Parts: sequence; C-alpha cells; structure tokens
Amino acid sequence: MRWEALRIDDEPTARPAGVARQAPAAPVLFGRDAVAATFDTPGFRGMSFYEIRARSIISRVPGQSRLPFRATINPYRGCGHACVYCFARGSHAYLDLDAGLDFNSKIIVKVNAAELLRRELASPRWTGEHIAMGTNVDCYQRAEGRYRLMPGIIEALRAARNPFSILTKGTLLLRDLDLLAAAAEVTTVGLNVSVGFADAALSRLVEPGTPSPQRRLEVCAAVTARGLRCGVLMGPVLPFLSDSPAQLERTVREIAAAGAASVSPIVLHLRPGAREWFGQWLAAHHPALVDRYRDLYRAGAYAPRSYQHRIAATVADLARRHGVGRASPAAARRLPARRPVSEPDRAPASTGVQLSLL
Ligand code: SF4
Repeated sequence: MRWEALRIDDEPTARPAGVARQAPAAPVLFGRDAVAATFDTPGFRGMSFYEIRARSIISRVPGQSRLPFRATINPYRGCGHACVYCFARGSHAYLDLDAGLDFNSKIIVKVNAAELLRRELASPRWTGEHIAMGTNVDCYQRAEGRYRLMPGIIEALRAARNPFSILTKGTLLLRDLDLLAAAAEVTTVGLNVSVGFADAALSRLVEPGTPSPQRRLEVCAAVTARGLRCGVLMGPVLPFLSDSPAQLERTVREIAAAGAASVSPIVLHLRPGAREWFGQWLAAHHPALVDRYRDLYRAGAYAPRSYQHRIAATVADLARRHGVGRASPAAARRLPARRPVSEPDRAPASTGVQLSLL
C-alpha cells in the first residue's frame, strides 16, 4: 500500500517534541516530498498524519451537484472526529485507504494549503465566487490544532475579499474568531456548526472524536456574541435514535438558546463506505434497530421523502416556537450593520443534501 512506503527520515528537521517524521522511500500519491508524522500526545495516539504538498487547493463541485456552492477547500482528508455515519468515508478509498478505521486515523494534511490558495485567488482565471469549507471533512478537526492551516486560509480569503463559509463540529473555530471577524468586515462570511441532536451520551457513541453537542452550541453562542451570525446544521437526525418528538424538541430548544441564526435539519443518509461502517455500529449497539433501518433505507442511501419531510416540518415548527434566529438582545446589539449573509453562505436548508458534516 502506497502510504506504507514512507520510511524514517534522517534529515535534521525542526519538529515539535514527540513527533516522529518519515519520508517516502518510493513514489507515493503526492510525490516524493510527502512525509508521515505521528504525535505521542493524548488525542493523537494511534493516528498518522500524511503531510503532502498538494497541487491545487480550490476544488470545483460538479455542475450536476445539488450543493448550493461551486467551489470548496478541503485542507484535510480523513477526519479524527470519527463520526460513524460520516458521508466522506467512501472518499478515503480513492487514496488506497479504507473507509473505516483508516478514515478516522490516517489523515492527509495539505501543508501548503494557504500558499496555494493565495496563488489560486490571485489567478486571472479565478472569478471570486463563494468558497465553502467543511463540506467534505471537518477543517477544524483535531489535527488543525497542530497544523494551523486555517489561519493562513482565512487570511488569504480576507486579503482577496473572497466570500466563504465554514461548517464544523470543532471548537477550534473559536481560536480563529478574531480572524473571522476581520474577514467579515470586508467580505461575506457564513459560519455554521453541526449539531444533529442534543443527546451527549448518543454523541459519545456515534461521534466519538467530536466535542459534545453542548460544546458545539457554545461555539455558536460565542460566535453570535462576537457579532457574527452562526447557523446550525441539525444533522444528522438519526431515525429511531434522535427523532422522537421530545428529542427533536430538546435539540431545537438548545439550538435556539445558543442564539443560532438558523437551523437546517438533515436526515441521516448512508452511502457506500458510511453504510457498512454505520451498519456494524448499529448491529453492535442497537441490534434491535437493524431490521428497521434496513427497511427505512431499502431504496438506497436516503430515508423516504415522507420521513424527511416530516422531520423538516417538525423542526421548522419547533424553530418558530423556540425563536431560532431571534438572537438575544445583547448579541443583537453587537451585530454590525452590513448586508445579510447570502443564501449560499448558509448550510443548505433542504433535506438530503450531501454534506459529510451531518
Ligand atoms: S461528519 Fe464531519 S466531523 Fe464527523 S467525521 Fe465526518 S467530516 Fe469529521
């Protein structure tokens, strides 16, 4: 397997203490300058980081896609947040890595992301359109604490006055709040956190590497208090696990209390890669639900439209009742007078949109 062709590098290189560095002995996917790193610190044990110099950083979304944006930046591939249901799992197979444990623990890091972005934004071919981040894997996953790619990316977007949005489950976004606020002074910045349900015990099982739902909502509250809008992608709603009226009500109530500017529910979808991994998890933790899931997803990756519409209608009603979008007066006073966030900056409102952070 190509990633295992990396070997110990004996070049003297400045690295943080406790970091082992390796260099490729044979050609690998991204050229001979790729290196592998491991960190002997809590939170990173058992993980490998493949530091590569990517050839480009702005990705085009295929024209036939239903996504409401046409350009994305993904500084990482794989995600240590390790959500069992993650839609992006299947994409790890393109790298000769598996969609299960490898997706959680073998992370590709595009160390030259900011440098590439500055170059691509300055190209005469670039038209300045909206760029979405966090739509494949989480750009504020734990690796970002080490690699700090996002400050350079945000700074490049601010300098180019290029509109962008971020969707995350990570609390690390707060580290960059000043940078984000500075960018929002000169361009449109859409911020969204992903919280599918408020049940912390369920989250620990099915999203084992993420901050708790409550900590994610604290991010939303802090962003709002800073005078920026923050939406919540309420995804995924997990059938039979987080979709009871009481569970939906609690989740929307907590989202409203965090000062969220909007809430957009998305029901779990299970595409190849995620489907097998989630199926194993379900059989281990909720064997009584296996047949019900098989029945609900018998037509493919998506739950029936009738189910999706019922969740969407229920959440819309709860959002009205709990006042989602009516930020606290204190936060509202701090909102700067600038044009409203345009639709593409928000998480998609429709159900069934293919985002991994759901
Ligand atoms: S759903 Fe998002 S946060 Fe969870 S593993 Fe996938 S990319 Fe990471």
